[in-house]
Amino acid sequence: MSHPPVVLLVEDNPRNLKLARDVLEYAGFSVVVAMTGEEGVEQARATLPDVILMDLQLPGIDGFTALGLIRDHGPTAHIPVVALTAFAMHRDRERALTSGFAGYLEKPISVREFPAQVRRHLPRPDAPDP
Ligand SMILES: [Mg+2]
Repeated sequence: MSHPPVVLLVEDNPRNLKLARDVLEYAGFSVVVAMTGEEGVEQARATLPDVILMDLQLPGIDGFTALGLIRDHGPTAHIPVVALTAFAMHRDRERALTSGFAGYLEKPISVREFPAQVRRHLPRPDAPDP
């Protein structure tokens, strides 16, 4: 990938948002942020990021609903969306995996592991177009 990978981070908790953004920017990602599901869907359409990290518990529409809107819109339909789930929310993680998320990452994030965990979900630059 010739440009820095673009991550859309959808998270309503300002501290979680800042930590994840700082860690990803330090690791060389270009980070776009949104603090509600609605704003996340809008940013996905406007920026067509390489990967989306989606908190599930959001004010307004939740992460599952936002995922549905992203999937239903042609230009964003193929973008991998990874759920951000609170450690205690076992049910959310199960539901994420059966709802079309590419995977999930637990909060609190591991500062050391997070960039590699996100990079794993980037589309392969050498993969043929779908
Ligand atoms: Mg939240």
